[in-house]
Amino acid sequence: MRKDLLARIYKRLFKTFGPRGWWPGQSPFEVMVGAVLTQNTAWTNVEKAIRNLKREKILTPARLDNIKISRLARLIRPAGYFNVKAKRLKSLVGFLFEEYKGDLRRMRKERINTLRPKLLGVHGIGPETCDSILLYALEKPVFVIDAYTKRIFSRCGVAKEDIPYEELQSLFMEDLPKSVSLYNEYHALIVQLGKDICRKDPKCGLCCIREFCKNKNFR
Ligand code: SF4
Repeated sequence: MRKDLLARIYKRLFKTFGPRGWWPGQSPFEVMVGAVLTQNTAWTNVEKAIRNLKREKILTPARLDNIKISRLARLIRPAGYFNVKAKRLKSLVGFLFEEYKGDLRRMRKERINTLRPKLLGVHGIGPETCDSILLYALEKPVFVIDAYTKRIFSRCGVAKEDIPYEELQSLFMEDLPKSVSLYNEYHALIVQLGKDICRKDPKCGLCCIREFCKNKNFR
């Protein structure tokens, strides 16, 4: 049964890798900014960009709202696609001020069903970034799906790899208890497995969940 499978995979991943301590960030706003910066790049590059923002003391909603986009782009250069991401960050901060007076606590009070579509309407915020913000910055019980989730769970026979984002998300959210800490940890563990073991060319011999995997071709 799928519900049982998802729970068993979680337990095995947790036993193997332990708590991941996600999301690295000293404040919900830093987590939100990191969710945009991490698009299409490794986390080590995001850390460099965040360090630059901190050094210049502009990692606050008001300061990011006021900074010139060209200066912001220069500071976040290590994260790649810096002009695109600067525009996205400006749009996100603009949204935060328009809707919530620049206050994440106000934003957090909004119900998920209202907040999620609004956030998805912000320039450059797709479902994965949106849900990362909801879960890791605002502590809303939303399961984050990414390419690793699709790859691993298609190989485990839970869904096809081309399943639409929201469909796969629904499977997890229907079968798992609605828990911020569980969703937080589960997604982080999936990333750990996908990054190091269940790659495009997977290292099945080292995989802690191989007994649950249907993808015999990879054995
Ligand atoms: S057994 Fe192989 S294909 Fe299956 S989840 Fe593990 S690494 Fe991926």
